[in-house]
Amino acid sequence: MQMLSVLGSTGSIGVNTLDVVRRWKGRYGIHSLVAGGNVKLLAEQIFEFRPRLAVVADEGGRERLIGELRALGLAESDWPQLEFGAEARVLAATAAEVEFVLSAIVGVAGLEATYEAVKLGKRIGLANKEVLVSGGELVMAASRAARTELLPVDSEHNGAHQCLRAGKRNEAVKLILTASGGPFRRTPFEDLKTVTPEQALNHPTWKMGPRITVDSSTLMNKGFEVIEACWLFDFRADEVEVVVHPQSKVHAMVEFNDGSVITQVCATDMRMPIQYALTYPERADAPVPKLKWDEVHSWDFHPPDWEKFPLLGLSYQAIRAGGSAGCTLNAADEVAVEAFLKGQIPYLAIAATVAETLERVPVTHPATVAALLEVDRQSRAVAQEWISSSFALSL
Ligand code: NDP
Repeated sequence: MQMLSVLGSTGSIGVNTLDVVRRWKGRYGIHSLVAGGNVKLLAEQIFEFRPRLAVVADEGGRERLIGELRALGLAESDWPQLEFGAEARVLAATAAEVEFVLSAIVGVAGLEATYEAVKLGKRIGLANKEVLVSGGELVMAASRAARTELLPVDSEHNGAHQCLRAGKRNEAVKLILTASGGPFRRTPFEDLKTVTPEQALNHPTWKMGPRITVDSSTLMNKGFEVIEACWLFDFRADEVEVVVHPQSKVHAMVEFNDGSVITQVCATDMRMPIQYALTYPERADAPVPKLKWDEVHSWDFHPPDWEKFPLLGLSYQAIRAGGSAGCTLNAADEVAVEAFLKGQIPYLAIAATVAETLERVPVTHPATVAALLEVDRQSRAVAQEWISSSFALSL
């Protein structure tokens, strides 16, 4: 039985991962479950999957988790070791029994644990974008040194991983990532000024956590994916193209040097890429809807609107700047999205905050996670300061 550590077990990817595990009883076991503050769901997951270790974000969460386990009637002798905080997240990802780490915490909170697991050569199913967007230089160096397999769970990178199997890496000349275009694909720029959190959280094709849903609406998410793809597959920024494909059936395409384009197509269900990462290099039956080829399909592809969605261009700018620019890009966006969701800044100020923060924070080359987290902290402070001074009345 392969033992897994699920980082972010209570999130959208975590819940889907446990559903895949549930369907493969006997093949996978759960060593550790790591969550933030949703202790009710975590307690239910502990009850069902019986991990050896469960970790929450803080001490208060650990106390509340104990209350939930008691309420569920789970005998204390059946409780896993209960921990909280950053060190415990690392413990969960690096324990000797863990063979596969599913990295699906949202934000940089997942970076250190994933990095430490990479260093130990554990197999990683990578959903957490921030690991490569913020720490690409560091994490990929560690991955090369430890010969760790980073198996992408993000559907576009998972699709690219599959397409790249059609030829040698040096025969692939271009990677094309598709974007649904988000809920505002057809919205005139003027109307974006009044977009509410409810509208931004209404994604047309995917059900995901709130941050990535807002990031999908601004195309920031696609920008992050371009950065991730450059690191994962060793493409230059100018070799990665984004194309809007509203039906979200084609996830990625790879153009080879002879002009052939190989595409990966499947229904929109994250259990497919999660299971692919778990079973790679084998394939197995997946509990996802199959495409029906006896029906008429009409799929569109068109270039993104760079002016309406400036965060996409800022991502390319960050890749070219290299070093810590991705970390700053991510940190500023995280602060801005949070402020937007709290109603503190208008929708268009998300991009303005990111652009301003990238201008103000110098690019460095952090050699440790601690140094990277310091850039993250500094970038957040700059973004927050800019928001406070620009939108003082709404705060
Ligand atoms: P969710 O918001 O649904 O879940 C986030 C998870 O992270 C939750 O389990 C949450 O715990 C946990 N978490 C947050 N903060 C902490 C912390 N400080 N310590 C420990 N755990 C924490 O996000 P998604 O599942 O949608 O996305 C997860 C990652 O995967 C993101 O980086 C996203 O960009 C990426 N991704 C997601 C896709 C999707 O389809 N959802 C597709 C591709 C990539 P809790 O809820 O208990 O607070």
